[in-house]
Amino acid sequence: NIETKPPSFADDLFGPARIVPVLVPLPTERPYSYVVPEGMQVEPGSIVQVPLGPRQVAGVVWDEPDGGPPEATLDPKKLRPIVHAFDCPPLSADMRRFVDWVADYTLSPTGLVVRMALRAPSAFDPEPWIEGLALSGTRPTKLTAARERVLDVAGKSESWSRSGLAKAAGVTSSVVDGLAKLGAFNTVRIPPPPVVAAPDTGHERARLSAAQVAAAEPLKASVAAGGFSVTLLEGVTGSGKTEVYFEAVAAALDAGKQVLILLPEIALTQSFIDRFGQRFGTEPAQWHSDLPPKTRERVWRQVAEGRVRVVAGARSALFLPFRELGLLVVDEEHDPAYKQEDRTFYHARDMGVVRARIGGFPAVLASATPSLESRVNAKASRYAHLKLASRFREAALPDLELVDMRNHPPEKGRFVSPVLIAAIRDTVLRGEQALLFLNRRGYAPLTLCRSCGHRIQCADCSTWLVDHRLRGVLQCHHCGFARPRPQSCPECGTFDHMVACGPGVERIAEEMLETFPDARTILLSSDLVGGPKRLRRELDAVADGQADIVIGTQLVAKGHHFPKMTLVGAVDADLGLANGDPRAAERTFQLLHQVTGRAGRSGLASRGLIQTFQPEHPVMQAIASGSAERFYEREAAERERAGLPPFGRLAALIVSADTRREAEDHARALRRAAPPDDAVEVLGPAEAPLALVRGRHRFRLLVMGGRQARIQAFLRATLAEAPAPRGSVHVQVDIDPQSF
Ligand code: ADP
Ligand code: ZN
Repeated sequence: NIETKPPSFADDLFGPARIVPVLVPLPTERPYSYVVPEGMQVEPGSIVQVPLGPRQVAGVVWDEPDGGPPEATLDPKKLRPIVHAFDCPPLSADMRRFVDWVADYTLSPTGLVVRMALRAPSAFDPEPWIEGLALSGTRPTKLTAARERVLDVAGKSESWSRSGLAKAAGVTSSVVDGLAKLGAFNTVRIPPPPVVAAPDTGHERARLSAAQVAAAEPLKASVAAGGFSVTLLEGVTGSGKTEVYFEAVAAALDAGKQVLILLPEIALTQSFIDRFGQRFGTEPAQWHSDLPPKTRERVWRQVAEGRVRVVAGARSALFLPFRELGLLVVDEEHDPAYKQEDRTFYHARDMGVVRARIGGFPAVLASATPSLESRVNAKASRYAHLKLASRFREAALPDLELVDMRNHPPEKGRFVSPVLIAAIRDTVLRGEQALLFLNRRGYAPLTLCRSCGHRIQCADCSTWLVDHRLRGVLQCHHCGFARPRPQSCPECGTFDHMVACGPGVERIAEEMLETFPDARTILLSSDLVGGPKRLRRELDAVADGQADIVIGTQLVAKGHHFPKMTLVGAVDADLGLANGDPRAAERTFQLLHQVTGRAGRSGLASRGLIQTFQPEHPVMQAIASGSAERFYEREAAERERAGLPPFGRLAALIVSADTRREAEDHARALRRAAPPDDAVEVLGPAEAPLALVRGRHRFRLLVMGGRQARIQAFLRATLAEAPAPRGSVHVQVDIDPQSF
């Protein structure tokens, strides 16, 4: 007794229509169903153009849900057909599982996660072939030496790009053009050139020290063995970690795999590119938000095609469509920049480890000051732990001393103590370099009125405006709002009583110019240097010894190698400790350790002076004693006692709205909607640490649980039970928030 449905018109002609799920890059949890037109070839992972309402978008053919194909339940006549299947390599099964995993873990709509993998719209069509040259067989007579050379070189390959041939022959393109006019070449179509040349793993092998070999061998072995593993590569600043993981990179490349190296900041990428070039004879492909759109598309495409073998990139590179990724390196793995807090909140280090597990390949996490999370994972043997205990070529680490600011106060209105001034003087006289570090952009963090005490605040954020004197404005560091510095108090009207309070790097630079008028002073701050190219020039100038005193924000704290730098002074070491965040101590320790690590990297004796009002603080003690071990143990014990990550699980729900009332009401509604669960504790709602940002009022609920607590399920239930956000209300989920 077979049940029969009346066949549709299409079924009569072509047999049953094929229906596939397509995930579109929009805030949707699930793929939508589309009909595959007759003759179109698609498979899971194919990138396709589909109609969506009145417009069209590029999406990805997704995997059938567990219940099998959706045909049985859907009427093809009501579905719309796929418009176009791009001629593009499909997104790999690993990548699709990764997207699903990230969406599930972060509670982000799957469509928004896949959007991160599709960030290069015109890359879905193949790159057009370009016009090239091939020898025509006609050999003009009476040739200049340059033209002779071009023809000789041209014979070595079937076809050339015009500029490629000129470069190979060491002539200008006009020489090639001249020959072309004489009929020496035919025009031919050639494939687009690669964005970067293939890395040469044998280009210039560094001679590794015994300690480096001891670390590199197990890394290479894990690459050779394949399979998922995580290794924490912990080495003091200047120990040569990069050369060590380059060995693993070479091993992966030799095994025919692609490699991804994550770096926290573009500022770091620049010097890294040079190092990579020295070792592999070519640049890695780069990936970050500042890439020109055209380059971005070419990199995306060539990664998908497998033509790009190595990518060095920011966190978003994790979502590039690698075909055969075989190694992930996360450099400076402790860096807070790996946390994305925009739309989909995710931590690139943690998601990177997941990517490696899904792909079944090794991940290497490198740092001089690992995150507590990675330390704990290594202690628990979830991660392998490799250590480099001393600097390369036995360069000594700097002597670190605390400067107790209560006993060595600076002159009135100044911020650098006489102890540090004397040290700078000695350094400059020896022809060496000093670095003054202050993690605060601008001239002063606060402007107030001496008559009435009024402080100038941002109208849209709960923050003070920062005085940026070089640019002549007071600016909000959260929304970018800027206004001129007022002559009279906006509150009481008193003229000329506005004073700058506290130091920013510009003010320290001013102080140095006054104290050392003959020294060459350079100020490096992200709001001043312009683009990455300019920054690289400035960093090169410092490395080249063209400055005596460098004043910088955290831009200069890490990664750079300044051979003549022998003194590092931390102007306000207590700065990060005051914000009440349980991670503050760890962050401050990491930053101070990194920045003092800039000193003495080429073997000269060096010092680090740490200006602090709390020399007895465990962070300062740990820095001064050079004992990271005790500090980490103490921190771990405290976090464990408090049930905080990595010993417990934590998530935040951030509710924002145009009015304080709406935000608070919805946060309360969420709290009421939380299901009873003994394993989970809900704290709040309370005003978020930044209660007002860009005119949006923010409340926060914290959700805590033990390691085994099912936080995501709990949040899902809460969100499902709560009323849908209305009006201007928005709810953002933050799993593993970085500040808590
Ligand atoms: P880390 O990343 O651990 O701070 P780096 O990898 O930057 O250290 O190395 C510190 C310095 O030592 C760099 O200038 C690097 O070029 C140099 N170096 C490291 N290992 C070697 C080696 N095997 N041969 C030559 N130079 C090396
Ligand atoms: Zn603002």
